[in-house]
Amino acid sequence: MLLNLFLLLLPAVLAAQTASGPQYLLLSHDPAFLESLAPFSETVYSSGRTRLVRLSVAPQQLPPGLAAWLRPVSPGEVYNAPAPRGSQKAPDQAVLALLEKIDSRRLMGYAESIVMTGKRHAGGLDLSAASGNRLAMDYIAAKFGEMGYQVERQCYKNRKADKECNIVARRKAGPAGAKAVLIIGHMDSVGHENAGADDNASGAAGVLEMAKVLSSYKSDHDLIFVAANGEETGIAGGYACAKKLKETGELARIAWAINMDMISWNRDGILEIETNKEFSAHAEWVGAQARLYTKLEPYIAMPAWGSDHVPFLEAGIPTYLSIEHWSDHNPCYHKSCDKLEALSWDYAAQLLRLNLAVVAGKTRLTPLPQ
Ligand SMILES: [Zn+2]
Repeated sequence: MLLNLFLLLLPAVLAAQTASGPQYLLLSHDPAFLESLAPFSETVYSSGRTRLVRLSVAPQQLPPGLAAWLRPVSPGEVYNAPAPRGSQKAPDQAVLALLEKIDSRRLMGYAESIVMTGKRHAGGLDLSAASGNRLAMDYIAAKFGEMGYQVERQCYKNRKADKECNIVARRKAGPAGAKAVLIIGHMDSVGHENAGADDNASGAAGVLEMAKVLSSYKSDHDLIFVAANGEETGIAGGYACAKKLKETGELARIAWAINMDMISWNRDGILEIETNKEFSAHAEWVGAQARLYTKLEPYIAMPAWGSDHVPFLEAGIPTYLSIEHWSDHNPCYHKSCDKLEALSWDYAAQLLRLNLAVVAGKTRLTPLPQ
C-alpha cells in the first residue's frame, strides 16, 4: 500500500522537482540532441537562440552524453529581446561610403566556392589533399593572399590530427604594439557533401568579404581575420586560436572581436547579437549601430554559447556573435539540405553592414590611395 501510494505520488514529486529545480542553458540545438533530451526536460524559457530547461531527473541520470550540453544558469544572466532604443543619431557619411563597398554577389561567390569544396567536416580526419576541409582551407588562404594580407596556417592538434588548421590573415597597423581587432567565422561544417551553406560557409564568406572591403583602408588597429576550423567538433579551432594568440602575446592586444556563424537565412529581418552579461553595454552599442546603418532589427542575446566567440569571451575580450534570428530558424540546420538556394545574401550583406560599421566606429580607417 505504501509503495502504491508512493507510485501514485511519484509524478507529483517529479513535477515539483521540475518546477523548482535548477535551470539549464542548452549548449546545442542539434536536432538529435533536442530529441534525446525532450523526455527528460521541460522548456522554461525560449527566445531566439536562448533556451532554458528544467530536468525531471538529476543530470547524472540522463542518457550518456546529454549532460555535457547543459550548463546551469541563473535567470539574471539571461536576456533575449530587442536591443534598447537610444536617441537616434545621424549616420556618418564616411561610414556609409565604407558600407557601399560591400558586394552581396561577391559574398555569395565566396560562399559558393566554399560549399563546392565537398565535405568540410574536420572531425572525420580526412585531411588529405583532396578533402573538402583541406580544399576550403586552401581556397580561403588563397583569397586572403590575393587581398594582400599576410596568411598563416595556424595548425593545432585535435583528436590526434596534426593538420587541422585555422586560416589566419593579418595586416599590421604600423607600429608594433598597436591594438588589434579580430573577425572570426568557422569554415568547417558537420560534413554533408556540398552543404553547410548557412552553417557556416556564410560566416566564413562574411570574414572574406569584410577582409576584402577593409583591404582598401588603412587602420590604426591590427586586423586579424580568422577562418576557424573544427567548430563543429567542440569549438576546437576557436580555442586553439585563442591559445596560440596568447602564446604570441597578441591576445592581450585584441580590443574586441566579432564572430559570424550562420548569417544568411532570414524570414523576419531580425539578427541576434550574442554576448555575456559583462559586455552588455558593448552589445547595446552594437545594437545602436544596427539601427543606424542597417534595415535589421537587432536583438541582444545572453549568455553566449556554442560558437567561436566563446573562447574570446572566456579570455575577457568584448566579443559578440552576429547570427540570424533563431526563433524561426533554418529548417536545414545541420542537414544535407543546408544549400545555397534557400539563403538571402541581401540579409547577409545587411549583417556585414553592421559588422563593418562596428569596425569603423571603434577604429580609425583611412581610404588607401587606389
Ligand atoms: Zn556553425
